[in-house]
Amino acid sequence: MDALLGNARLRSALAAAFASDRLSHCYLLAGPEGSGKHTLARILAAAMECTAGGKRPCGVCLQCRKVLDNVHPDVITVDDPAKKTVTVELIRNARADVYIKPNEGRRKVYVIPRAMDMNPAAQNALLKVIEEPPDYAAFLLLTDGAERLLPTIRSRSVTLHLAPLTEAEGLDALAKRCPDKDAAARAAAWARSEGWLGQALRLLEEGESLAPETQRFAACFARRDKLGLTELLVPLERQKREQLVPLLQQWIELLSQALAVRAGQLGRWEAAERIGRSRTSAESLKALRSLQRAAELLNGNVSPGAVCGALQVWLDE
Ligand SMILES: [Zn+2]
Repeated sequence: MDALLGNARLRSALAAAFASDRLSHCYLLAGPEGSGKHTLARILAAAMECTAGGKRPCGVCLQCRKVLDNVHPDVITVDDPAKKTVTVELIRNARADVYIKPNEGRRKVYVIPRAMDMNPAAQNALLKVIEEPPDYAAFLLLTDGAERLLPTIRSRSVTLHLAPLTEAEGLDALAKRCPDKDAAARAAAWARSEGWLGQALRLLEEGESLAPETQRFAACFARRDKLGLTELLVPLERQKREQLVPLLQQWIELLSQALAVRAGQLGRWEAAERIGRSRTSAESLKALRSLQRAAELLNGNVSPGAVCGALQVWLDE
């Protein structure tokens, strides 16, 4: 239970339910990306399978350890990451499987990590089983918002809303998890995270992985700062080809993500989301093509100076 930070009210409500072993057979875990839904799902599944007599989940019994290591045969993830939605076939398969008794656990727990990506047909298929499940079955539906599920599903579920952490909780957690990062970087990531630890960790990691030139390119491009782009590109003319190629690849990846953001997906980098919010798809696509052309020229032995000069013109058009 300690793995879930903050959320004091939710934790005490769950602790009471665990102690009396009064658990619902269907939970909605609602919160944005990075809010702790997956951690909470593991805690719930462990509490359902735990064989310890006292406080559940104990975290040390064989059943708990299997759940926490993601190897418990009766904790089943219902998802196909290769598909854009959670299809009705996946739900039907789970529904057929539900009537086979648990292998070794007390319960059979179905985790649907992208419940908001179930279309109405899939949700209705799920509804049939959560209306009258076998008594050992449980469903954990993870969603970025409870309202993305049908009212009929919501009314048969207990909704658990994840809450953002306080600043003190967040900074403390970041200091423990990333002791090697400096305090200013942790504070900057926290300030942009809106209170969600997972997002702060992502931002902190991004600060490391994105080259400073990429951060500057993203900032200038997002605010249409042509002078800033020129000031960035002029010194790059003196760089070696081997340095410039990976940089351009990162900018291309950045704009690809910005286009995905425009199409409604979540960007891996916050910098891409900023561009996605401020530039149109046509603008990002045009810049992406220019960068691809520049990368091709570089690989075709045109000098970095000439390529950066051409980029200044293309990005200014
Ligand atoms: Zn246990």
